[in-house]
Amino acid sequence: MNFDWNAHRFSGGVLALDLANTVIFRETPERLQDRFADAAEVPRFAMAAAHFRQGEWGDVQFRPPVTPSGFTTLINARESINGLFRAAAKGQGLAPRTLSAFLRLGSDVVCHEPDNQKLALPQASGMRSELSLTTAAFLSGISLFEPSRLERVKICPNCHWLYFDESRNRSRRWCDMRVCGNRAKARRHYDRNGRLAENGSA
Ligand SMILES: [Zn+2]
Repeated sequence: MNFDWNAHRFSGGVLALDLANTVIFRETPERLQDRFADAAEVPRFAMAAAHFRQGEWGDVQFRPPVTPSGFTTLINARESINGLFRAAAKGQGLAPRTLSAFLRLGSDVVCHEPDNQKLALPQASGMRSELSLTTAAFLSGISLFEPSRLERVKICPNCHWLYFDESRNRSRRWCDMRVCGNRAKARRHYDRNGRLAENGSA
C-alpha cells in the first residue's frame, strides 16, 4: 500500500527531523510504527522531501539509497539523528558519545560523495542539483547545532515527532496544530464531558 507523504509528514521543519519522524510514537514502544518497514517508501519519501524542503535545500533531488548497505546506513543515520536531537529537546544537551557517533557516521557518508559534489545548503546556484538523502539528512542535522536553533527543537506530546519551532517566541506546542493540536483538544473536550456526565449522575 502506498503511504501518503503529505505536508503533515513533513512537520519536522528540517530534513533531519522529517527523517527521524518516519517513525511515529517513538516513546510508546507498543504503538511505535516505522514507515520505512517497507523499504519501497524510502524513494517516495525522498521525492516528497525534495518538494517540501525546498526552503531548506533549494531545487534539489535527493538520491535514495539503492543497496541494502546504503539502506542500513540511512536507517542508522535516522536513529542517530533521533537519539541526538530527542535528548537535546529534553534539555539534556548534546551528549558526547551520541554526538560522536552521529559525526562519525556523517563523516563516513560524506566521504563517499563524489569529489565534485556540492555540499552547501541551500543550493543557491539556481541549478537543479542532486545529493544523497543520507548526506542531506546529516548536513541538515549539523545545521541545528547552533544554540539558537538547537533550543527550537521540540517533541510533539501527541505523536512524539521532533519538530523545529520557528514561531517568534518559541510557543509552538504541537508538530502540527491541525492534526495533533486538534486531537488533544478533542480529547480534553471528551474528558470534560465525561466528568460532567459523572457529576450529573451523582
Ligand atoms: Zn504530533
